[in-house]
Amino acid sequence: MSLASLVKQTYDAALKSGDLLFFDAEKSTRSDNGVNFLITYAPSLASKPRNEETKLETLDEKKKPKVNPFLPPNPALVVKELDEHRVLLNKFCIVPHHLLIVSKEYRKQSEPLLPSDLGVAWKCMMSAYNGAPALVFYNCGPYSGASQPHKHMQLIPLEMLEDGPQPPIKSAFDEIKDRKAGQIYTLDKLPFIHVITPLDRNFIDSSTDKEETEDYLAQMFFGLLDAMFQQLRKHTSPGSEMSYNFIMTGQFMMLVPRAKEMAFIQDADGRPTYLSINSLGFAGMLLVKAPEELKALETYEPGLLNLLAEVGIRWSDSPEEMVDAT
Ligand code: AMP
Repeated sequence: MSLASLVKQTYDAALKSGDLLFFDAEKSTRSDNGVNFLITYAPSLASKPRNEETKLETLDEKKKPKVNPFLPPNPALVVKELDEHRVLLNKFCIVPHHLLIVSKEYRKQSEPLLPSDLGVAWKCMMSAYNGAPALVFYNCGPYSGASQPHKHMQLIPLEMLEDGPQPPIKSAFDEIKDRKAGQIYTLDKLPFIHVITPLDRNFIDSSTDKEETEDYLAQMFFGLLDAMFQQLRKHTSPGSEMSYNFIMTGQFMMLVPRAKEMAFIQDADGRPTYLSINSLGFAGMLLVKAPEELKALETYEPGLLNLLAEVGIRWSDSPEEMVDAT
């Protein structure tokens, strides 16, 4: 059976049996400097049982041994077993068919992606939703917005909004003139350190060798990681344990280093709140659970790109427009 059919079948069964919880959400958009952010408001997520996750909050819970929801996984959520990975459904789901690609053996979420991780993520991205646009992301390190310490990449199908298939950040990528696959760029309009590279689809699509695709993706990933550290050295003094967000679509890969997990925001009436931001935020997709968070995002000044800069790392001086990685 194809991966797409397995995803659909496992999802329908897990939803019916109650092993997977779907949370209804309202969507709205807010634009900043040409990026149409998608804001998802899911009030019912606020009632998600906290002790289902290893991000244990209360003192009593901290004393308990931590539960790893991916090892062993709930069999009802397992879509497919691969050599080194397992494709699982996200138990708490806002986007239907949200997948987790977890390492079969325990590995840390602070480890970089390996060629085999990238190869599997690419293959799943191309096949899990019958070739419809999709997004892979990886929240790496303690300030990246990850809630589980076991290595897991994530995959979601992208929605068609007014300006075509998401993610919203793609509109900024599309503005790079004469872009060349494998070159590493930074985008002037983003006020935080980041690096982005176009992928060579002709090369990937024509490759019939699994290792060749893995090597190509790993070369792009490690080239980006290197360029990200170069930018960090220029603008800050990076610590030893770096957190970053990774985004990959069929067109590009992007890395954003992180300084904080939570953004501090105030709504129009001055009420303060903290908002956890992960890779999806840097793709232009923000998630809120409470009405005051929604209000704060809708009215946040000086705009949502600057909200991201609060949890990323601002350029200390004007960024170079382009960094040639070749
Ligand atoms: P992150 O929060 O980015 O680390 O992603 C971890 C994801 O795992 C979250 O989106 C959770 O909804 C999801 N999750 C938590 N517990 C389980 C579980 N038992 N099975 C499958 N997914 C889970």
